[in-house]
Amino acid sequence: MLRVTVWNEFRNEKNPDYPEVQAVYPDGIHNCIAEFLKDDDLEIKTAWLDQPENGMTEEVLESTDVLIWWSHGSSAEVDDKVAERVKNRVLRGMGFIALHSAHTSKPFVSLMGTTCSLRWQEGSRERLWCCDPAHPIAKGIPPYVEIPEEEMYGEHFDIPTPDETVFIGWFKTGEVFRSGVTFKRGYGKIFYFQPGHESNPTYHIPEIQQIIKNAVRWAAPQFIAEKISCIKFDPIEPLD
Ligand code: ZN
Repeated sequence: MLRVTVWNEFRNEKNPDYPEVQAVYPDGIHNCIAEFLKDDDLEIKTAWLDQPENGMTEEVLESTDVLIWWSHGSSAEVDDKVAERVKNRVLRGMGFIALHSAHTSKPFVSLMGTTCSLRWQEGSRERLWCCDPAHPIAKGIPPYVEIPEEEMYGEHFDIPTPDETVFIGWFKTGEVFRSGVTFKRGYGKIFYFQPGHESNPTYHIPEIQQIIKNAVRWAAPQFIAEKISCIKFDPIEPLD
């Protein structure tokens, strides 16, 4: 079984000031994602910000192979120790899928080593172009996906040069963005995927669901190391 944990801030969905978010994700974004991910060989859990240790206890993390992370305005509330714990497990091999505003999440920023800042504006239309059709994350995805309403994220996106750029987003307001990019850090695989503003029904779009399902499979670790550290190594051949 591949063990997947879906982490969500889970704040706006419970806040009566945001009825538009409750209308789209009445049970929370994490439960929406957990629901469409359901498959026979996946063990899916959810976790959220207001749980003890932000839902990312040693126990939860040590039983997670792939972590999906959705966050927005409350990224700073994640405890530094928790963020470090997540980062450490990625370095040891856990897959990490950062969705939408998780570009500012502590684990993602720390793993990138840059500010991960970008341009943004509310309310645009996006055409998500696949620029690597042979990539496993793009399996079964058409040349482009129309997203009728999505928050605009535009370049410059301050990330290191990605290992692979699988999707590029075009917005009707004229901007473009590296919307689906991969990185490897330590033994872990990372996929950042931009669509998914909380008041837009983006995670109800079948192609978007398929991309996230594909990403989970792609990010699955071959193994997760207990630790990675320097090792004193005796010569294999005797030194004369
Ligand atoms: Zn947003």
